[in-house]
Amino acid sequence: MARLFVSDVHLDESAAQAIEQFLEFLKVHAASAEALYILGDLFESWVGDDDVDPAKERVSAALRELTLQRVATFVIHGNRDFLLGSDFCARTGCELLPDPVIVELDGERVLLTHGDALCTDDHAYQELRSTVRSRDWQRRFLALPLIARAGLAQQARAGSQAHIARVPPTIMDVNPNAVATAFRTLDVQRMIHGHTHRPDVHNSVIDERDSQRIVLGAWYEQGSYLWYEHGRYELRELPR
Ligand code: MN
Repeated sequence: MARLFVSDVHLDESAAQAIEQFLEFLKVHAASAEALYILGDLFESWVGDDDVDPAKERVSAALRELTLQRVATFVIHGNRDFLLGSDFCARTGCELLPDPVIVELDGERVLLTHGDALCTDDHAYQELRSTVRSRDWQRRFLALPLIARAGLAQQARAGSQAHIARVPPTIMDVNPNAVATAFRTLDVQRMIHGHTHRPDVHNSVIDERDSQRIVLGAWYEQGSYLWYEHGRYELRELPR
């Protein structure tokens, strides 16, 4: 049975087509898989497990249905939904994995990560990342009323859009040294990540070892996922 990987679905009530397509993907493709790995940014924003609108509820219910069918479903935090927590997991049956994490696929150790931590050239973003990923910041943020959190998230998104418009695209791609360091220190020859929205397969040689970095696509214009079975990987597109 196959294992599937997705990231950067960026589900949001304003993107009805993406929601329909993702729900369809769960029913048609994921339901017959052995496992589904969601490598971050499933949701466009998530300001706490009490952040429930009808669109998010539909997604949670569909994930619940999937896990009840015994499809192991794993979630890694993205930079937009890093507050997905234990209540979300209890509701959906998904299991939260740390970032980065090494999983064993048919005996091979494979590194899974959202990918934003590899974009080390974007210093402003990395500074923000270490702030919002701190336990103290999260505790104070989650203590705010939902409406205040939602307002702050909206401001953060506007700030992020302005930042993206200002910064050259190469700054927002992964840094080659950060990639090489991850391969080396975590002692893997394959990694799978998203975040950069540049789906591709990059083969390289690091310390005389073949290394492969598979980048997942975003779901803004179409769906996409990585299919894995018996040692074979395939990036697949789902036209909308
Ligand atoms: Mn991201």
